[in-house]
Amino acid sequence: MTSRVQNPIQNRLWLLSFSTSSSSSLCNSVSLKKTRFTNRTRFTNRSLFGKRMSWSSSRRNLYCTCSTSRGSTMDSNTSPSSGRQNAEPFVITTPLYYVNAPPHMGSAYTTVAADAIARFQRLLGNKVVFITGTDEHGEKIATAAAACGCSPAEHCNVVSQAYRTLWRDLGIAYDKFIRTTDPKHEAIVKEFYSKVLANGDIYRADYEGLYCVNCEEYKEEKELLDNNCCPIHLKPCVAKKEDNYFFALSKYEGFLGKMLSENPEFVQPSFRLNEVQSWITSGLRDFSISRASVDWGIEVPNDAKQTIYVWFDALVGYISALLNDGEQPNLQTAISSGWPTSLHLIGKDILRFHAVYWPAMLMSAGLQLPKMVFGHGFLTKDGNKMGKSLGNTLEPTDLVQRFGPDAVRYFFLKEVEFGSDGDYSESRFINTVNAHLANTIGNLLNRTLGLLKKNCQSTLAVDSAIAAEGNTFKDAVEMLVTKAKTHYETLALSSACEAVLEIGNAGNLYMNQQAPWSLFKQGGAASETAAKELVIVLEAMRIIAIVLSPVTPSLCLRIFNQLGYTEDQFDTITWSDAKWGGLKAGQVMAQPKPVFSRIENQIEDGNGGETVKQGSKEKENINQNKSPIEV
Ligand SMILES: [Zn+2]
Repeated sequence: MTSRVQNPIQNRLWLLSFSTSSSSSLCNSVSLKKTRFTNRTRFTNRSLFGKRMSWSSSRRNLYCTCSTSRGSTMDSNTSPSSGRQNAEPFVITTPLYYVNAPPHMGSAYTTVAADAIARFQRLLGNKVVFITGTDEHGEKIATAAAACGCSPAEHCNVVSQAYRTLWRDLGIAYDKFIRTTDPKHEAIVKEFYSKVLANGDIYRADYEGLYCVNCEEYKEEKELLDNNCCPIHLKPCVAKKEDNYFFALSKYEGFLGKMLSENPEFVQPSFRLNEVQSWITSGLRDFSISRASVDWGIEVPNDAKQTIYVWFDALVGYISALLNDGEQPNLQTAISSGWPTSLHLIGKDILRFHAVYWPAMLMSAGLQLPKMVFGHGFLTKDGNKMGKSLGNTLEPTDLVQRFGPDAVRYFFLKEVEFGSDGDYSESRFINTVNAHLANTIGNLLNRTLGLLKKNCQSTLAVDSAIAAEGNTFKDAVEMLVTKAKTHYETLALSSACEAVLEIGNAGNLYMNQQAPWSLFKQGGAASETAAKELVIVLEAMRIIAIVLSPVTPSLCLRIFNQLGYTEDQFDTITWSDAKWGGLKAGQVMAQPKPVFSRIENQIEDGNGGETVKQGSKEKENINQNKSPIEV
């Protein structure tokens, strides 16, 4: 659904002839809108099945009518890591990505961040449902398929698979991958539609306007360039008239405003709340939820000539994804598996759909609202907006193949403040991962293990808890672990990485101050002290491997392997294992092997071109460490 948003308002329509005798404040806002109706858009109000939209004060609870309702939209504490009493799962979603093109860096960034958050929640011992998937309907998909001579279904299979391949390469551990062409999703969408219809919030109206085929949306004249050209595609829009079904978003203006003022945490980061509130106060317009001329979509219930359009299809995927294999595809079953979501993670370009449209749709269907919508920022490259026409896109598949998943994940989560915009440049990328992952963390581990091998047969002499009694370095590590936890909980992912990095920095400082290599040379009691110091540093490495595992899981597994643990042991760690004292006397470490090799930055002679050699995960594993081991 992400790349559908080129113009965030699909249809700038005002509702006409919205008559009701209700005195609710919602209807007052509707009457105001009539005066803002633009003259080139003509409606004929033909409410479905002779039903006028009605609203009465005695109508059912807006927010939740399902039998498992807790009777409120949100928990009083809307921290994403809270509100899961009664063993509610932590449900996190990425957008369902639109398959008109292969995955781009923005999608990869959202998904990496979601994966880190999901992994952190699993470390806390919470049941997690991490949902991602692909949005596969619409005219653009049909056109893209035709262009490559395949059917829409074949096209969707290929692109959807490209997403899954990239997620595998990036180490994304999702629980559910929903495709909007999945029959179970179609069933849920139809049921959802029918609920909204039964609530009187869908009506049929003629619409006439200028339509951009590429955007798949009607445009307002004032936003078009000369010759009615779409400002995005620079191609003329075509006059189009069709009757569509509309969702009565305007009806929910008051309720959305009230919900946000009562639950300001709903929109995160908090600085995005004002924007959402201003959309609502400036007036919400009903939006078209069907197309008469698009075949590649889910049929509108009771009208086979129309298909359900864009958001009304894709957003419901967050619910249908919850269905387990073999379950009956109905809303109640899906909802009982984890609705509402704890966190919708999205790019800021689709905030309106998630913080305005979607809650209104859910209110209309009588379902609970998600607990939080977090809109992260955009990525730029070398300070410039990325775009195909600018020829400066950043291909995630290329990036992960060249540098491996850990480097990609770490760079974007550490170097982009989560929620704000961030920039990628190759030199900064290489410098950052080399300094932090290869040097601060990787080299500290490697040189410590080298000393342990040489002087202690790779075996720990003493329990780490005993070795660190009264040790201030240990206190510093514990404090930083607490700090990292708080940062993860508040989705401050960059700060969480920073806290881990500080453990590495403190470890390097400690190592250099204690200089165990000198102590070993002295022999006797000094050697015993040196052996103890190695245990202390390795215990810090063990803790780093746990606390950084949401961000760089495969790197942290390699650290764990180096410390003599198995993959199974790594897979069962929890946050409480980050408490000091895990390493015990007698534990045998693996042969020292670099866990993260430096990425070599090579300037070619003569032509000034820059090439980067190696960096794949395999190479990271087999290359010899080039860093000096102090002995
Ligand atoms: Zn366009």
